[in-house]
Amino acid sequence: MTTLGPEGGAGAPAAAPRSAPRWGRAVLKLSGEALASDSSEETIDAATVRRIASEIAESVYELGVQLAVMIGGGNIWRGTTGQGGGLDRATSDTMGMLGTVINALALQDAIEREGQPTRVLSAIAMAEVCEPYIRRRAIRHLEKGRVVIFAAGMGNPYFTTDTPAALRAAEIEAEVILKGTHSGVDGVYDADPRLHPDAKRFDEIGFMEVVARDLRVMDLTAITFCKDNQLPILVFDLMSPGNIRSALAGEPIGTLIR
Ligand code: UDP
Repeated sequence: MTTLGPEGGAGAPAAAPRSAPRWGRAVLKLSGEALASDSSEETIDAATVRRIASEIAESVYELGVQLAVMIGGGNIWRGTTGQGGGLDRATSDTMGMLGTVINALALQDAIEREGQPTRVLSAIAMAEVCEPYIRRRAIRHLEKGRVVIFAAGMGNPYFTTDTPAALRAAEIEAEVILKGTHSGVDGVYDADPRLHPDAKRFDEIGFMEVVARDLRVMDLTAITFCKDNQLPILVFDLMSPGNIRSALAGEPIGTLIR
């Protein structure tokens, strides 16, 4: 295994020339469904995870960006699914959080196969599986060039992983949240472009306008949290090859909410 990150020691290749990325530290919010694929019946599609992992590893290495990933669990379980079936909401949400841990391990494995060191930090303690989330430890891992993968959201029911992505971003003093979409919609539009072909995409939009227009790009709790804490959100199409790098580099793709 070639190690790209700083943990590579003597065997690691020399550092690549680094361009100056716009963001020094970022949180990438990945939906669990981004790890699945229409062409596979598996909840986690190995080829899809490999592609995302290799883009993450390459971009972090080439740009020198500090990256934490908040991984969702919707490909496995959502709290609302169980609630609809009569399950207790808090129990169902806990099942969803455990699903995010499964995704986190899949992503960790794939990113490390690309030679990039990672650490999974879970909001629900699971000592035999991964580290517990400790803010200062997360920052230390990032400083050492490791990709941090946040698992189990924030550890509390009644949330999705959008709000913990925002919370962790504020805690670790990230400069941006990169919200990757997997539905083919490459930013924030004034109407759903899948239903309205003449819908217009915003290059930039304010937090309050997203709320006022009820544009459902992220949970409202996350949007208002980001507004209160001056945390910009870049909404971009995750599935288009090269976009993770472009988003991390600060190239003008998607929609910047701020
Ligand atoms: N969840 C939770 N608290 C959290 C984060 C997640 O209860 O802090 C549960 C919730 O039930 C959610 C599920 O975990 O539906 C999976 O997360 P999410 O829906 O955000 O996954 P995504 O849509 O991003 O794949």
